[in-house]
Amino acid sequence: MSKVETPRPIRGTQDIFGPDAEAFAYVVETFERVRKLYRFRRVEMPVFERTEVFARSIGETTDIVSKEMYSFEDRGGESLTLRPEFTAGIARAYLTDGWQQYAPLKVATHGPLFRYERPQKGRYRQFHQIDAEIIGAAEPQADVELLALADQLLKELGIADVTLHLNTLGDADSREAWRAALLGHFRAVKGELSEDSQERLEKNPLRILDSKDSRDKAFVAEAPKIDDFLSDEAQAFFAAVTGGLDAAGVKWIRSPGLVRGLDYYRHTAFEFIPDEGSVSANTLGSQSTVLGGGRYDGLMESLGGAPTPAVGWAAGIERLAMLVGERGEPNADVVVVAESDDMIPAAIKTTARFRELGYSADLIVSGSTRKRFDKAVKSGATCIVSLRSDLNGTTANVRRSDPDAAEVEQEWLKMKPYILS
Ligand code: ATP
Ligand code: MG
Repeated sequence: MSKVETPRPIRGTQDIFGPDAEAFAYVVETFERVRKLYRFRRVEMPVFERTEVFARSIGETTDIVSKEMYSFEDRGGESLTLRPEFTAGIARAYLTDGWQQYAPLKVATHGPLFRYERPQKGRYRQFHQIDAEIIGAAEPQADVELLALADQLLKELGIADVTLHLNTLGDADSREAWRAALLGHFRAVKGELSEDSQERLEKNPLRILDSKDSRDKAFVAEAPKIDDFLSDEAQAFFAAVTGGLDAAGVKWIRSPGLVRGLDYYRHTAFEFIPDEGSVSANTLGSQSTVLGGGRYDGLMESLGGAPTPAVGWAAGIERLAMLVGERGEPNADVVVVAESDDMIPAAIKTTARFRELGYSADLIVSGSTRKRFDKAVKSGATCIVSLRSDLNGTTANVRRSDPDAAEVEQEWLKMKPYILS
């Protein structure tokens, strides 16, 4: 017989297990709890969309659309794409499902995203995000609310050394004027820029500000600043956002060079980044942004909808989970042992009853009868209920290893007459 080879996992995917999976779940559970405090409604979105949903809203010149999308033709000949982000699909749903009637609509979701990137620590090809959006809200208070949600989430996760870096990209006119000035500035030094930045120059000069290449750093530092191009309205909007953040007790710092890679951003743009030299900065290394987003007032029109102001953010669950650290998998409240096979039905009943009562319970019915009890002891469970039949009939041996076991034992004594009858 020829040996069958085991298929390898796909590069950039992760099988998340044990304490890492607990940390992942903890991030999601905390997000679920906090988004309810802020009254964000849960949505579940498709994992794939027509390619144009992403191509048109994210923008052809972005890294995501130009080189990171998992696009394929389905059996019907349609070009589909595994979602590289949530916002575009949620915007599509807002238009196709009549969600305008709920505006301003606050929604939250989480799940897997797909980007063809170079895998490394904190960067995967399938990764996961939590995501929050407020759609149909033009006022700066929406930005404040959304950022307060992010800030409280990080605090509740116990991540204290990460700070909100805030910028404004202005309204469409401010952004356009700034863009033209950046174009002039970088054209003059084109030959000295990195290849990537030379390529970005004509299409999307804002993105050069985002460059991590050392050859670009000096030119980026001297680049024209958005503040010189902000209209009065744009300035007032930003002042209302920062004033609101101060009132909400959200710490922030101004980061005038911060731009978001995507084309659709206006006004507020932000990232939560670990403080320099902090534990979180060490843990994440160079892939350090945990949460990013901003206002995307221009997006709906690119999908054929009416102008619709909106603001949102997404955070990488894997990166947040790394900052939360490994979380232990809790031991069972009770382990039920059938010391001999004739006790298996009673053990099954006992376990079922404990679970109905809300106690976590494991059942041990396999392996040599002598070893079952030892296995239960090793499991570290709070309490062991061990069932055996002997010459005197059926007995149960309750062994406690923890002060909380008294409560479990009381429950056992109550159910015992029914189980052993
Ligand atoms: P980066 O600059 O790190 O590539 P980005 O600007 O592409 O980030 P967004 O599209 O804003 O990231 O996604 C928001 C968050 O999702 C990021 O801050 C990060 O935590 C997470 N994230 C993005 N891409 C990946 C990835 N490939 N693997 C793991 N997490 C990711
Ligand atoms: Mg990226």
